[in-house]
Amino acid sequence: MIPLTISMSDRDNVAIVANDGGLPAGAKLSSGLTLREHVPQGHKVALVDLPLNSPVIRYGIPIGYAAQDITAGSWVSEQILRMPDARGLDNLPIATVKPAPMPPLEGFTFEGYRNADGSVGTRNILAITTTVQCVSGVVDYAVQRIKSELLPKYPNIDDVIGIEHTYGCGVAIDADGADIPIRTLRNISLNPNFGGEVMVVSLGCEKLQPQRLLPPGSIPINAGNTSEELDVVCLQDEVHVGFMSMIDSIMKTAESHLERLNARKRETVPASELIVGVQCGGSDAFSGVTANPAVGFCTDLLVRAGASVMFSEVTEVRDGIDQLTSRAMTPEVAKAMIDEMAWYDAYLKRGKVDRSANTTPGNKKGGLSNIVEKAMGSIVKSGTSPISGVLAPGNKLKQKGLIFAATPASDFICGTLQLAAGMNLHVFTTGRGTPYGLAAVPVIKVATRTALAKRWNDLMDINAGKIADGTATIEDIGWEIFHMMLEVASGRKKTFAEQWKLHNAISLFNPAPVT
Ligand code: CA
Repeated sequence: MIPLTISMSDRDNVAIVANDGGLPAGAKLSSGLTLREHVPQGHKVALVDLPLNSPVIRYGIPIGYAAQDITAGSWVSEQILRMPDARGLDNLPIATVKPAPMPPLEGFTFEGYRNADGSVGTRNILAITTTVQCVSGVVDYAVQRIKSELLPKYPNIDDVIGIEHTYGCGVAIDADGADIPIRTLRNISLNPNFGGEVMVVSLGCEKLQPQRLLPPGSIPINAGNTSEELDVVCLQDEVHVGFMSMIDSIMKTAESHLERLNARKRETVPASELIVGVQCGGSDAFSGVTANPAVGFCTDLLVRAGASVMFSEVTEVRDGIDQLTSRAMTPEVAKAMIDEMAWYDAYLKRGKVDRSANTTPGNKKGGLSNIVEKAMGSIVKSGTSPISGVLAPGNKLKQKGLIFAATPASDFICGTLQLAAGMNLHVFTTGRGTPYGLAAVPVIKVATRTALAKRWNDLMDINAGKIADGTATIEDIGWEIFHMMLEVASGRKKTFAEQWKLHNAISLFNPAPVT
């Protein structure tokens, strides 16, 4: 076995061990350095002596300070690394980086469903919007009946799903922040994959009344939907006598939407119609070395093709705020980014924590000692393009280019908010491994390590571990992701999460009190 380590910058004074199973004491690196102790895979080895309080540098920046004297060749574990404070939000570099414009990427297309409002879907799904958790059991039952009894008549429709959630009642609906879950639900029901066919199941007595969720004018009128009248089945309505009459109403209402959805046809559209959300979860030290840089390369390809790409996860980019504000296209974009970070800092402070509450036991086991190190690896998903916009949580994206969509890093909440933004394709990188999926949008999962890609060979769509193995470049995997996106968006290829029908629940971000 040849000992392999990876540094990210010439300035780094630590490197991570790439070998499966780590490296034993006595292993000799190509530089001549001998390991003083066993260093697990993905963990850091000191390349030089690091005296107490000296900066430990990875990605060319201090990810922490030595909490004791560390001798070259030692394992730099989280216990002997002191985390730096977060950079303040004052005096940040604003729109200082002006990358040379990249040549447009032309000629790439996919087969999508063009909607009346101009948006493009990658799947053809009937979504049943719910106003409140109370109706979920009934909607589940109805969805099963629709799938088994109605769907066989409509072969062009991929799926029927209930947009179920825990919001809607027992909440302080007028509190500060309550607009976030409400607009999230509204915008999810308008996701391009649902073809503008909005139907709602309501209980009747809930706080989130259908007209508050989807006020007049919020639903685009399309070829089928000729009126702005909201299509609502209200379970407490007196016409319903017994459970089966509720199911009959839902199925009858669904049928007219199914007929129109079934008439949707895929057509050739430019790659600029992609609205991609990228995120990571179950990260390890390879995330920032293999999968995330490859996604970052692909992000640049998408921006060059005129598409929209969202990167998110506030606590995972907070420590790189100076990189982001300097990459903002305009001072207004930088200001919007700072506002979102400040809001989130205050939100965390209410719970007497800070961005360091983000890291998990699995992250640390995978070699990520703290949130600074994790953030540096997470940010690279955003590539190198200028940041052209900022989206507040739950809002709908109306812009092309690279967008910072401010969301929590929680996989399911981030995915939910990116769905609300209008995402029609999702890319998810993982090192520890997660079977993550969404019911509404295809999720392409990228493994950071070959060992994971092999062990989860029917869950991981792409193996970016080849980059660490030296058998592929970041550019190779970036292009592989890009080409797979077009195949998946066109419906010619299903992701593993789709094949196994794996999906996580809609998880609304509700910063407001419940009652
Ligand atoms: Ca995440």
